[in-house]
Amino acid sequence: MSKFKFYLRRIIIIAVFGFIAYIAFRGSDIQLPEPAETKSGLSVHFIDVGQGDALLISQGDAHMLIDGGPETARDDLLAYLSGRKIQDFDYIVATHPHEDHIGGLPSVLGRYDAEEFIMSGETTNTRTYELLLDAIDRQGLRVTLPKVGATYRLGEAEFTIVGPSGGDYQELNDYSVCVRLEYGDTSFLFTGDAESIPEREMVKSQLPLHSDVFKAGHHGGATSNTEDFLKGVSPDHAVISVGEGNSYGHPNPEAIRRIEDAGARIYRTDQMGTIIASSDGKTVRVQAASPVSALGEEILRGNWQEALNQGWEDLTTWAGNGLEDFWAGLWSNIEKIPGEFQRFLENIFQ
Ligand SMILES: [Zn+2]
Repeated sequence: MSKFKFYLRRIIIIAVFGFIAYIAFRGSDIQLPEPAETKSGLSVHFIDVGQGDALLISQGDAHMLIDGGPETARDDLLAYLSGRKIQDFDYIVATHPHEDHIGGLPSVLGRYDAEEFIMSGETTNTRTYELLLDAIDRQGLRVTLPKVGATYRLGEAEFTIVGPSGGDYQELNDYSVCVRLEYGDTSFLFTGDAESIPEREMVKSQLPLHSDVFKAGHHGGATSNTEDFLKGVSPDHAVISVGEGNSYGHPNPEAIRRIEDAGARIYRTDQMGTIIASSDGKTVRVQAASPVSALGEEILRGNWQEALNQGWEDLTTWAGNGLEDFWAGLWSNIEKIPGEFQRFLENIFQ
């Protein structure tokens, strides 16, 4: 490569990434396009609730919520749900009674009705759990216990309870309600915080496990996401719902390696924010809810070529907003550029 080309490439890279920084800091006055989604399709939203799980699944007018994140993320969760213009839920599933899964549910039940509330039969005596039981009582909801093999309709989609099949676990996590969802030819698997024992049982159960999208077990923890289980699931995409800088060390590097070895591409809510998997019944597309994060994702992965392509595409789309504004915004915000981007610049110039 000639020296000129080398520097030209750097300039282009910097311009594109400068644009990312600009978009990231210019904030909400830019109308970002909604991710592609049709009325007839299915969407699974891995809502960013920090350390915890909250998944919204929508097919047409049918909606399902799997877990409600921790209490601390309750306002974000409610804002996200009201942004989706949801009236009521066909199903709410509380995978297991840990705070990072049920903490936000009492607030959700304060605002939304659920036709069917599926929750783990295992109880605990925490205040969070009692608040959830109170909310269930107030709403007069009938609780359905998970029965392996039971199948439910969600609009044109269908889901099956695939776990837990046992009833005597040491860990509360292992009582997690596990759900496999099918829409057309596409499939999704959500196993809450189930660890190695229920994973083994699911493999033994002979129920179909293969899924295009897998929500990594237990926030990408080491004691979940076991090799044989991942072989059975054989996902193309794995989403890890995890909080940045959490005290559990989630996700675990070994678990990440096992998931990648199983052939899946990994998406993390701590890096991308809310992640949406959409299906037209034939193929699945996984992307960040915000295109800014989609770019950020490529940067974090070090996929410079893809990031450049994506950045260029967005630059062209948004050029209408005025390139002068862009540069002005970039220079006035340069000192606020996040660590990742700064490290990237340093890499270029070293
Ligand atoms: Zn958890």
